[in-house]
Amino acid sequence: MRNLIFIVLGFLIIGCHTLEQVKKTKDITTPIVLVIHGGAGNINPENLSNEKEYQQALNEALEAGYEVLESGGTALEAVEIAIAIMEDSPLFNAGKGAVFNHYGQNELDASVMDGSNLKAGAVTGLMRVKNPISAALAVMRHSKHVMLSGDGAEEFCKEQGLQMVDPSYFYTEKQYNRLIEIQNKEIDAKEEKKGTVGAVALDKNGNIVAGTSTGGMTDKKYGRIGDSPIIGAGTYADNNTCGISCTGTGEYFIRTVAAHEVSNLMQYQDLNLQQAQKKVIEKIGRLGGDGGMIGVDKKGNVAWFFNTQGMFRAYKKSNGAKEIRFYGI
Ligand code: ASP
Repeated sequence: MRNLIFIVLGFLIIGCHTLEQVKKTKDITTPIVLVIHGGAGNINPENLSNEKEYQQALNEALEAGYEVLESGGTALEAVEIAIAIMEDSPLFNAGKGAVFNHYGQNELDASVMDGSNLKAGAVTGLMRVKNPISAALAVMRHSKHVMLSGDGAEEFCKEQGLQMVDPSYFYTEKQYNRLIEIQNKEIDAKEEKKGTVGAVALDKNGNIVAGTSTGGMTDKKYGRIGDSPIIGAGTYADNNTCGISCTGTGEYFIRTVAAHEVSNLMQYQDLNLQQAQKKVIEKIGRLGGDGGMIGVDKKGNVAWFFNTQGMFRAYKKSNGAKEIRFYGI
């Protein structure tokens, strides 16, 4: 009888312990999260006739990136896939749908940052690399530099075996017409929908990665570099705070070192991600700039903020939450 009591007690203790372990493991399990954007700007229900196409494209990028995270892949892999899908879509101002500079050329910029070690890679002024985000990743992984530009960047991409294309690959009628309209002053550059793309992911190891890719601004000067390839301005990631990808009039995001500023406000002023983003975008607004940003913090909270009419954006989290939105905050 006594033995039986000990055995039952033993089972109870082991049982409780196991339950406790399960609870603890659940509590400390890092959520996995992916948030993406397809640019901020003059986006409203009246001027967006192809809402469905944007919905589909964002969904495809989001699901592909999220699947990587769900199957145990890294935040770096998820960000690359999500951004590459948007680069391959003519809907966005990155890769295939990039805007034209003043001379009717496409000059592409991209960057990526790994929040686990603060490593980063960036490229500017590409004209022949199909997926600039992969170029940025290659710079981070396989060179001792952070940023490569123009011909040198393309030479490096070729050496790395990245897919190269003829510059005409980036031609789209929609963007070319836009250039002509802006040059003829039929529309103001401010009326643009924009369409830079970005992604921020938090993987199962708690690593945060942010990436951004763009064709820049329509009618930009040859050689102009915006915020997207500048670490700290358009892209930033630090596992201790957050990951951020920006979109908007790049010059203002450079001047306010926008993405890094969000991280700083969280680290040194104890603001949460949403408060920090709001503060930075409001400052950009006061200076006369417009745009927005997306982000994920180390706990897996997602936030976005913009001072334009809309921003193409979406997120998916391991708690089942998912949203794809264009308008309203
Ligand atoms: N930030 C990009 C740039 O200035 C443009 C954009 O996001 O629309 O190049």
